[in-house]
Amino acid sequence: MDTIRPRIAELKDEIVALRRDFHTHPELGCQEFRTASVIEQYLQDIGLETSRIAGTGVVAVIEGQSERPVFMLRADMDALPICETTDGECISSIEGVMHACGHDAHMAMLLVAAKILVEQKSRIQGTVKLVFQPNEEINGAQDMIRAGVLENPTVDGALGIHIWSQLPSRTVAVTPGPVMGGLDVFKLVIRGIGGHTGFPEEAIDPVIAAAHVIMAVQTIQTREISSFLPTTIMFGKIEGGTKSNIIPEELCLEGSIRYLYPGPDCPDHPTQRFQRIVQSVCDTHRCSCEINLVRENIPLVNDPGMTSIASLAVSNVLDHEGCITTMQTIASEDFSEFSARVPSAFLFLGCGNPEKGTDIPHHNPCFLIDEDVLPLGVEIFISAVFEFFKYASEFSEIQTEQP
Ligand SMILES: [Zn+2]
Ligand SMILES: [Zn+2]
Repeated sequence: MDTIRPRIAELKDEIVALRRDFHTHPELGCQEFRTASVIEQYLQDIGLETSRIAGTGVVAVIEGQSERPVFMLRADMDALPICETTDGECISSIEGVMHACGHDAHMAMLLVAAKILVEQKSRIQGTVKLVFQPNEEINGAQDMIRAGVLENPTVDGALGIHIWSQLPSRTVAVTPGPVMGGLDVFKLVIRGIGGHTGFPEEAIDPVIAAAHVIMAVQTIQTREISSFLPTTIMFGKIEGGTKSNIIPEELCLEGSIRYLYPGPDCPDHPTQRFQRIVQSVCDTHRCSCEINLVRENIPLVNDPGMTSIASLAVSNVLDHEGCITTMQTIASEDFSEFSARVPSAFLFLGCGNPEKGTDIPHHNPCFLIDEDVLPLGVEIFISAVFEFFKYASEFSEIQTEQP
């Protein structure tokens, strides 16, 4: 990394300029048209061929000294429907849309890493696949996978980095096993029989059934699942009724179930327990219930081998100046779709600095980034590429399976 660090330092203004350009022109998921063309132009200017995938996704391949193995680096592209309320020098120019999750930083870091990797092509013992993925906030990874992003060439290992404002700047979290939660969202319609609140015995009240449902499902975490297996069940929306003296016919409830452990659908899965309890509580209160569950994200689980490689890469980068830690969060991330299919690692790069006001949580209208950590992200991407190819023989079983 001797020659790489000075090169990254030379390119720091470029990294910041790219990030600010994306930040000023945020686009929602599946609408990243300008973003995709900026990425394509940059990659073509450094001599790479680009291809579009799943609408606004962009893929490019850096051919090193051999075709295999193939290491994928991923950055997400979408912004959020949030009205930015910071008044810094770089703010969104699009009303109601904002890069409030740091995806602008991810793209800038990966583009500059690509530039340096192209310059270092003769030292790359394999192939690097650059993946710019749309619509992370609504599982755009699934569309990319359906469109074949993990094939041609077949990906043997993958790395993703997320900027993280809740970690101090220059701290990087590298954790084997589950790092981000699974997310199932639900919609319940509880039906009774409407009537007068003055003679409730003539009606069947869905409100009282809903109240019991809300409380009863909380026992899934506290009474049915080990406290070492984090699970949360939250209600975000309750709708129903027209007037204070009318028992409504039905009530609609929406919410989410999050869990930070891998697990297939089985009777022990929190969503199965949820359905059982909702159904029986509604039966108890003589109501009927429609339960609609949608799996938005599966848990993101880091492969132990890939995590060791990522850990070596991060140690090379941080020397004695930074800090490696571990971190898990029950929030979810669609990189889990890649990690479920190829050995992968997903890292968190701290960008929280209270003096700069960059420790505000993600998805907040005041979210800010400590741009001084961006060169670290570039260096981690590059260092991980070299470490991956050094240890690629450990992925030999993958290579024999897919000659
Ligand atoms: Zn986000
Ligand atoms: Zn994000």
